[in-house]
Amino acid sequence: MLTHNLGYPRIGSHRELKRACEDYWSSRISRDELLEAARAIRRNNWQLQRESDIDLIPCNDFPFYDHVLDLSLMVGAIPARYRPLLEKSDSSELDLYFAMARGYQKDGLDLIAMEMTKWFDTNYHYLVPEFTKDQTFSLTSRKALDEFQEARSLGFNAKPVLIGPVSYLLLGKEKEPGFNRLDLLDRLLPVYLQILGELQDLGAKYVQIDEPFLALDLQDKAKHGYVSAYAEIAKACPELKIILATYFAGLDDNTRLAASLPVSFLHLDLARAPAQLDAVLSLIPPELGLSLGVVDGRNVWKNDFVHSLALIAKAVEMLGSERVALAPSCSLLHAPCDLTIENNEVALPGEIKRWLAFARQKLDEVVTLKELAQSDSHRQHSNELKENLLDMESRRQSVLIHKPAVKQRLATVLPGDLSRQSPFSVRQAKQHALLNLPLYPTTTIGSFPQTDEVRKLRLRFRKGELTQEQYEGAIRRETEQAIRWQEDVGLDVLVHGEFERNDMVEYFGELLEGFAFTANGWVQSYGSRCVKPPIIYGDVERRAPMTVKWSQYAQSLTAKPVKGMLTGPVTILQWSSVRDDQPRSITAKQIALAIRDEVCDLEKAGIRIIQIDEPAIREGLPLRKAEWKDYLRWAVDVFRLASSGVADETQIHTHMCYSEFNDIIDSVAEMDADVITIETSRSQMELLDAFASFHYPNEIGPGVYDIHSPRVPTEKEMCTLLRRARAVLPPRNLWVNPDCGLKTRRWPETRVALANMVAAAKALREQL
Ligand code: GLN
Ligand code: ZN
Repeated sequence: MLTHNLGYPRIGSHRELKRACEDYWSSRISRDELLEAARAIRRNNWQLQRESDIDLIPCNDFPFYDHVLDLSLMVGAIPARYRPLLEKSDSSELDLYFAMARGYQKDGLDLIAMEMTKWFDTNYHYLVPEFTKDQTFSLTSRKALDEFQEARSLGFNAKPVLIGPVSYLLLGKEKEPGFNRLDLLDRLLPVYLQILGELQDLGAKYVQIDEPFLALDLQDKAKHGYVSAYAEIAKACPELKIILATYFAGLDDNTRLAASLPVSFLHLDLARAPAQLDAVLSLIPPELGLSLGVVDGRNVWKNDFVHSLALIAKAVEMLGSERVALAPSCSLLHAPCDLTIENNEVALPGEIKRWLAFARQKLDEVVTLKELAQSDSHRQHSNELKENLLDMESRRQSVLIHKPAVKQRLATVLPGDLSRQSPFSVRQAKQHALLNLPLYPTTTIGSFPQTDEVRKLRLRFRKGELTQEQYEGAIRRETEQAIRWQEDVGLDVLVHGEFERNDMVEYFGELLEGFAFTANGWVQSYGSRCVKPPIIYGDVERRAPMTVKWSQYAQSLTAKPVKGMLTGPVTILQWSSVRDDQPRSITAKQIALAIRDEVCDLEKAGIRIIQIDEPAIREGLPLRKAEWKDYLRWAVDVFRLASSGVADETQIHTHMCYSEFNDIIDSVAEMDADVITIETSRSQMELLDAFASFHYPNEIGPGVYDIHSPRVPTEKEMCTLLRRARAVLPPRNLWVNPDCGLKTRRWPETRVALANMVAAAKALREQL
């Protein structure tokens, strides 16, 4: 029975990659130093995995920014706008790569970054491949080969990981009309064959090819693509053992297709979709092996060995252990690195820690499961199994988890609690009369740059070097400066800046019951940005107001309205590691009640506009369409539960970023927020089409400033975007704002960009 890993976190257990990349971007270190830092992380990751005794260790699972971008560079899918960089003599492949990821504004060049979107239903973002009708492909970056050789030179015969050709095309986007990106398969495949052939020549035995789309709803064209692509790969590389990896959902109606592909192993995500095992076993051909993803790569909970062993036994009984492999359910990229470096008993009490497993521990679990599965006597005498049973039982019984008062309140929620007092048109009139804002009001999404000073303040406060009073005084000064600055620049609806928040989810988690925290449980979100998801282990309850003090202070400084700023229930759920002992919808409802109380308290404190951020609504959408309805129902309901406790005059905003709205627009409308701000600038307002053709009834602020890039947008280009928006939306419903919060930006670029944005809004008003 083979054990393998689909991918290891690339950020380093102390975010070494983040530091190195950011140092390189700001010219604090040289390219060589960056490359050396990356080699050190890879070496360390390979070493750790070897220590766990896992049989096949992955390579080419280490991108500097994103593994889909790696592939675009590998196959030479480089959009034409970056050509000047290819021609510049002093520019390296790495500079081109980072330009594609982050945009480039230097030496008279001004290139916008590639579009970024969420990786399936995770909080990881990838860079969307761009295809043209006459798209050609050629082996351009040799990174996959180099990494294999690098591992070799360190004594590892690693398993290269590649995204498969069909999934790669499906992940991308046609940048002009008149073709279907799957038509490019014939042109793309030769590059894959070349890479696989070279890997084979270099001595690779196994190659993992990820085809996550195999577990999604597929068009016939894609199905045919799978058949022809894998037939060709098998023909060209008969020696290579291909592990075809699917994850995040079950194969369902694609089971027959997947099982018919000529590969050595088919990997199944049995954490997400355990029921698919029976279906696959019932029609598996004799030459195919199964890789069982029994250890959940997406969460932090310890594996339930008894449950996993039953699944393994079922497969072994039919196939024999030779044809069974064990692995985490998906790449461990989505899990924090290492539980053993967590030693803060207050943030993460020992009782809770005992229920957890991070990436390193998950590999140990895979290996232990193999040992347990292989011998009866081992099972009988195994301390690991006994301990695992006790851990599982302790979680089921713990009083830390169950709070009767929370369950009771949930049971008394009435349908009326989910609706505002009056319909939108009535609320809009009241709000406009009260707020008296100009046409095309300008605002921002909430956070302002988190400078080193602000971060240092928080760190020193945590270390006890600052008293609560000193810390809060300093944060108040930051807030005041931000308010003054916003008034000077001429914004209409202000924000307090979120200087007191480390993270939009963690901040609330720390103030709510039922959450635990790690010190180093970082997970990559995009590029060098990582998040540290809190762990929701028990019933959620609000102890006391969480934001009122800060909002009230900010509002006291100005006559302009300051938005209260909250994170919505679905986003708190989505960006946390969620307990798996009750439906997610129940946990979401508990959070919604806590947020509802906060919304009401903000209103009482005189806050007239309250924003409830829900950037994660769409990423929570189940991957299979059949499950959408159920999810959208409760996701909309919990937003309404959180937001409906206020008077008509109180304006509720929501914010979503990097969302494709076309397929959920009616649910977004049902949320009934008075104003929604969305991400649109990277896709040049494409998203707006959904809102326009649906005749979205409420107010809307399509982002005109891409805050995920350091590039400063000009007044003119924002005017162009706004005119495009005005052409399809009723002018009185249009807001002017950036795509998202500004916390990752620096003040100098933020100042210029927002001044340009305000100027753009003014120019538009004057055109009336
Ligand atoms: N209010 C948050 C901020 O500005 C929203 C962040 C987000 O949507 N991801 O930072
Ligand atoms: Zn956002």
